[in-house]
Amino acid sequence: MKQSINKVIIAGGGTAGWMTAATMSKLLGNVLDVTLVESEQIGTVGVGEATIPPLLTLHQLLKLNEQEFMAATQATFKLGISFENWKDVGEDYIHSFGTTGKDCWACGFQHFWLKGHQKGIASRYGDYCPELLAAEQNKFAIQPKQGLNYAYHLDASLYAKLLRQMAEQHGVKRVEGKIASVQKHDNGYLKGLILDSGQTLEGDFFIDCTGFRGLLIEQALHTGYDDWTHWLPCDSAIAVQTQATRAPIPYTRSIAHESGWQWQIPLQHRVGNGLVYCSRYQSDDDAREQLLKNIQGELRTEPRVIKFQTGQRRQHWNKNCVAVGLSSGFIEPLESTSIHLIQRGIIRLLQMFPLNGISEHDIKEFNQQTEHEVENIRDFIILHYHVTERRDTPFWRHCASMPIPDSLKHRIELFKETGRVFKVPNELFAENSWVQVMMGQGLTPQAYHPIVDHMPDHELEAFLAQIKAQSAHRAQQLPEHADFINHYCKAS
Ligand code: FAD
Repeated sequence: MKQSINKVIIAGGGTAGWMTAATMSKLLGNVLDVTLVESEQIGTVGVGEATIPPLLTLHQLLKLNEQEFMAATQATFKLGISFENWKDVGEDYIHSFGTTGKDCWACGFQHFWLKGHQKGIASRYGDYCPELLAAEQNKFAIQPKQGLNYAYHLDASLYAKLLRQMAEQHGVKRVEGKIASVQKHDNGYLKGLILDSGQTLEGDFFIDCTGFRGLLIEQALHTGYDDWTHWLPCDSAIAVQTQATRAPIPYTRSIAHESGWQWQIPLQHRVGNGLVYCSRYQSDDDAREQLLKNIQGELRTEPRVIKFQTGQRRQHWNKNCVAVGLSSGFIEPLESTSIHLIQRGIIRLLQMFPLNGISEHDIKEFNQQTEHEVENIRDFIILHYHVTERRDTPFWRHCASMPIPDSLKHRIELFKETGRVFKVPNELFAENSWVQVMMGQGLTPQAYHPIVDHMPDHELEAFLAQIKAQSAHRAQQLPEHADFINHYCKAS
């Protein structure tokens, strides 16, 4: 007989742990008894501050007031990511969250733009996207109708604090302590966590949010890990926080360097900086020097090296344990997808939560859906490294020539030949994201969809001009991003 699930233990209190605790207690708090254990002495990974638009949906579920959230986490708005020196040194593009132009039933806007470009009647692809133009002009506002598509930059430790308050209000019990060992039942299922203090926390179901350690999913259950370093070779990061020297911009900066890339995440009170690099091509000391040379503002923290291995756990749900957050794998932070995957993991688990007992079918379905989702994101990230004109350093020559997954090879070839790109079911990144990055990285399709030829040239010219003018107008009439934040947060 299947054993019903009532007592849930969340191991770890970083972004993953507290997001899980807040959501689970809000949505299933009436039927579950939830305990979270974390260790202040171990601390959290301390990075992970750029997000993507679906986070707004989670906040709606949590009934989190946006103005209070902005004030509590010193957040800013994010309209996309500026990729600098990725296509080649000195070349930039923005991957924005918005929609570029207008699609038709047969094909995406890129086909109209491609013909316009060939005829010399189209300007830059980004000129047809209001979010992109607003980002470039440091403008932002939340508008009730036809609003911009946006996400946030947030302070991860303040965010965890806010979520903790919410979780505790909904009955989550927090235990401070270091997990020393894990007890199992005879069938291999997890039974309890034994803390340094000698206290035992027994549970029916466990959520591993212990970060890269994967204390339950790996160290106790030996689930295994698929290593993706042959596709995503960066394995190190160095992070440091600085005092802000200018008003916050509404986008993340990703600046490619010789053996990796640098991030800049603007918050209201400070800037998060870091360099992601590949230790095969750059030493930690060299990375530290490069990062410090390329940041402005007084340092607020000591530069800290973080080591990681790109890949995913062989099973995200194993027996009575689900891994959420870094314990489940790490693609790399280039498109700010980790917090999103935490959100997806939690929602998927709640959709399949085994209140009446664990079914092998649930486990299989959960793992298949997660793998599929993660692998599509992985391909999107590899695209940035592989499709580049950079050949100036051994790192970039390696990225350009490395073998890539067949799934990505197919998308690249399809786009190159036909200009077509399709979002697969349940995929995070939509067609517009793929197009912006493929073209931004230097891929120009050889052909556009023939349906575009049904539109006479003068109509195409007017169509493009109208979208461009509307996009420019929408961006222009917005207030300055910093002014909007001041006004918005003061109103809370
Ligand atoms: P952690 O923050 O490591 O938390 C682990 C928790 O487990 C801690 O509370 C710790 O105390 C506890 N713990 C561990 N061992 C024990 C033990 N023995 N006993 C008790 N408690 C224990 N994501 C994004 O979405 N956007 C980004 O911009 C982004 N940038 C990133 C940049 C870098 C360089 C890296 C490495 C990651 C980045 N991420 C980003 C990912 C993001 O940081 C994580 O997804 C997020 O912070 C969640 O981490 P976590 O909670 O899984 O792990």
